[in-house]
Amino acid sequence: MKTTARWIRFLLWVAVFLFFSRQGISWAQPVMYEGNQLLDDLRFHQWATIRKPSVILTYPPRLADQATIIADEAEKTAREFQTNWGWQIKRPVHIYLFPDRSSLRKRFGWEPGTSASGVYYAGSIYLLNPDCWMNQTVSLKEDPWQWRRIFHSQGPLHHEFAHLYLDRLTKGNFPRWYTEAFAQWVEYRTLGYEWRTKDNDLRFHRPYSYRDLDRSFDRLPNQALAYRESFLFFRYMVQTAGHEQIDRFHRMLAEGIPFDDAWRQCFGRPVEQSFDQWLKQS
Ligand SMILES: [Zn+2]
Repeated sequence: MKTTARWIRFLLWVAVFLFFSRQGISWAQPVMYEGNQLLDDLRFHQWATIRKPSVILTYPPRLADQATIIADEAEKTAREFQTNWGWQIKRPVHIYLFPDRSSLRKRFGWEPGTSASGVYYAGSIYLLNPDCWMNQTVSLKEDPWQWRRIFHSQGPLHHEFAHLYLDRLTKGNFPRWYTEAFAQWVEYRTLGYEWRTKDNDLRFHRPYSYRDLDRSFDRLPNQALAYRESFLFFRYMVQTAGHEQIDRFHRMLAEGIPFDDAWRQCFGRPVEQSFDQWLKQS
């Protein structure tokens, strides 16, 4: 009896270790992602699919016209990432297209009012039907070319692929602010897009500290400001340290070196000091 209890305790410790440790997460990650994708395939088994070499798009059959363009654009984005970042996509990326805001909300159990045009989660990409955020400014039937142009330049594909790339490369070895910084920077570089509102203008708002961003990114009340700061800080690092150094940093994260240690080795000072340096000159 005593031995059984000890075994149970031991196994519990192993489970806790696997769940919380960085090593544990990187071992468990492929299994969790595989499970998530199997569940989604089951959930949406009545939907249709388009298969391309790098992506598999699952969508409700009535969105066939949107799906054709989205699958095309997604394949192009995946290829761009492979060329620009030397990334080999070994297994096609699963993308799910949701017909409206409420179905996307239901998938993630979000509160009413929460919405997004795209989500990266556990190895897959989830997209909201672009007609929902285009707000009838353009009709796919009447002007498919213009629809595609808007989806390409304002759609969430580059942002979500950036999350996917970083996650697959480093197996999640980064804090939340960093992946949002990187994804926004990719959008900025490829599409020239920046998220700017009066809520995140640093001239009128007191900035969050690095500690705030690092510890509670998703819980900060002014999300626009949190996103803006992370993006500007990352852009400053690219401008001052250079792309090669960022690449080197990502390779170190991929090797499993803890984020703060890799930063210090790559950029010569703790992250918080780099952040304060950026803040001082901004
Ligand atoms: Zn994001």
